[in-house]
Formats: sequence, structure tokens, C-alpha cells
Amino acid sequence: MKSISALDERYVAHTYKRFPVELVSGKGSEVFSSQGKRYIDMGSGIGVTAFGIADETWQQAVTAQLSTLQHTSNLYYTAPCAALAEHLCTRTGMKKVFFSNSGAEANECAIKVARKYGEDRGIKAPVILTLCNSFHGRTVTTLAATGQDHFHQNFHPLTPGFVHAPANDSEAVKQQLKDPNVVAILFECVQGEGGVVPLTQEFVQGLDKLRSERDLLLMVDEVQTGNGRTGSLYAYQQFGIQPDVVSTAKGLGGGLPIGATLLGERTEQVLDYGDHGSTYGGNPVCAAGALSILSRMDEALLDEVKEKSKFIFSSLQGAKGVKNVTGMGLMIGIETLRPVGEVLADCMEQGVLCLTAKTKLRLLPALNIPMPLLKEALDIIKAACAK
Ligand SMILES: *Cc1c(COP(=O)(O)O)cnc(C)c1O
Repeated sequence: MKSISALDERYVAHTYKRFPVELVSGKGSEVFSSQGKRYIDMGSGIGVTAFGIADETWQQAVTAQLSTLQHTSNLYYTAPCAALAEHLCTRTGMKKVFFSNSGAEANECAIKVARKYGEDRGIKAPVILTLCNSFHGRTVTTLAATGQDHFHQNFHPLTPGFVHAPANDSEAVKQQLKDPNVVAILFECVQGEGGVVPLTQEFVQGLDKLRSERDLLLMVDEVQTGNGRTGSLYAYQQFGIQPDVVSTAKGLGGGLPIGATLLGERTEQVLDYGDHGSTYGGNPVCAAGALSILSRMDEALLDEVKEKSKFIFSSLQGAKGVKNVTGMGLMIGIETLRPVGEVLADCMEQGVLCLTAKTKLRLLPALNIPMPLLKEALDIIKAACAK
């Protein structure tokens, strides 16, 4: 019998350089390999398994829906989809939701909204401003939105209609806005793939001010920062703004694929019947899972996220081999003295799964990771950094 990794190497396209670990099961923030090795999960499937592996509340919500009605298409009304949209709007002040299956698709919808918003105002070739070092997805259009050249290589020609400005540089943004075709700004409040780099309050407030000076949409990519990850339901809520569009995915489904694009007062009417669609979007099983996830993100849980965040920052800042720590909530970037690949490999060897972002070690643990596991993982991470 061939091993999992041998089969995978033989038949799965080599777009991922996988680590030499075959994961077979898990519970909460612990996962187990085919060799019986136990790991503490500090990556939660890239910020997806918000309440860990095989969480019972989520599992019950999903399996109940799975055995009732698993799919209908968007030709009909279903309860989980409607209830999830209501929940999202009630807690954000947004007005309408479009459901899809991933972060890239959630952003694709945002981009279509911005383009049609522009066209409705007589702009024939609308332009969207995004930030350098951003990440918005892997489809050809969301690649174009992504402000990192190395993702673009080999995939030209990219979708036109995007310009970029450095993050936290209001002057550069103003320069780009001299082009009257710019209809929207799309940004992450904390650049995730870009190295866990938070935007400054001043910069985000500045974007808000620019919106009030001209007809411009503020669109926030909350695919990674959303759904409790940064200590508020959505990260923008800590920046004192009310966006026109919010896209989210990752943690929303707790492990099932779902994306959502939230539309505000200025954008809720932009898309009309037939303008956009998705066969699976708002699928009852994924929606039931997401509703169960969001329903548990109350003040107590968000406070817990903030407390754990403080604990991580205080235990890592100034630790041997740690140059600095950035991020918000349970989205943490660690600049290490040693090459990050070596630190990551040592952590893995010692039973802790971490992520990287650019040259940093990145932590995105489950929001409910128990303190003893968090402490155990941090001790191992610190030891790896100090080596
Ligand atoms: C992961 C991510 C995406 C892409 O999400 P997919 O589900 O992989 O398509 C988009 N934007 C941000 C900020 C992300 O972190």
C-alpha cells in the first residue's frame, strides 16, 4: 500500500510544497499524524478552523443540516442562508450579503460591485486602488488586485483596472486618486500574507476622509482578519469606519468552504437580478456551520481572544531570538533572528505547527485554544527562536 504522501506526490498537482506530515485526525487545537505524532495546531488551517478540529457544537449544526437538506441551488429559499445573512447584517450594519465559496470569490464579487458602481456613474473603465504588499486571492482578477509582483509572474496579461499604493502612505493614495476613474479602495486592515502588518488608525481614518471628499467605495478584505480573528467580529470595527463592502471567508465556515460579500447602504442596490451568481454560494450545510460559528462569537469570546493576544505579545516580545512581534488579536507575526524556515522546522519537530508570512513566523491559532496548550506551544516557539 502506498503512503498518503507518495500517492499525493504522484497524483496531486505540485502547486504546494507540503511539509512531511500526513495529518489524519484531530480534536480542538491538537492534530495527529499517520505516525501517531501529536501536534499543537497554531495555524488552524490558515485561520479557518475557528473553534478547532471536530468542534462538537459546529459538528452538530453541520451534521443536522447535512441530514436534512444539503443543497438546493440558489433558485430557492433556504433557512440557513437567510438566517446567516440576517446575522451578518445585524452585527455589522451592512445591508445585504452575497454568498460564495472562498475568499477570492468574495473579492471577485466586491470587484464586480465596484465596477458596476463606477459604470452606473458614467465611468467606462473603473479602476480599483489596492495596497502594495496586499493579498486578495489567486484568480486572475484577484491576482491583479494583489499588490505583490511575485504572485503575478507567469500569469500576464492580468485583468486591467487596478493600481497600487504603499500601505500607510496617505500621500501616495492621494496621488493615485487624481485619476477620476478610481472608484474604490480595497484593503486588509492587517495585511496577512504580506507579513501580518496592521494598517495605522490614521491611515484608515484618512481613507475614510477621502471617501467623504469624493465618490469612492471603501472595501475591506476581511478574509483573514474577519470572524473574531483580531478580537472584534471584523477588524474594521476597531478602526472606526463603516465600509461600503466587506469580503470574508476563511474562519467564517469553521472548516467548510464559504465566502461572503457584505454590501452597505451605498452598494446594496448595485447588483441586480442576473448580475452575479454561484451554484454553491450560501449552500445550506456551509451556511449552517457558519451561523453556528458566528453565534458563538459573543463579547466573552472576543474578550478571550484579546486576553490571549496580550499573553502572546507579552511572552514573545523581548524573548531571545525574537526581533519583533506584530499583529492584532490571534493574528500574530514574529520576526525571528534565525531564518524563519529553520524556526518553523524546529517547532514542527517539537510538535507545534506554525505558519509563515514573508520572512515572519505567523500564528493563527483556533480562537478557543486552551491556555495550557497555548503556553506549551509558546514555550516551544520561544525555544526554537532562541536556538
Ligand atoms: C486567504 C486570503 C484570500 C483568498 O482566500 P481563498 O479562500 O484562498 O480564495 C483573500 N484575501 C485575504 C486577505 C486572504 O488572507
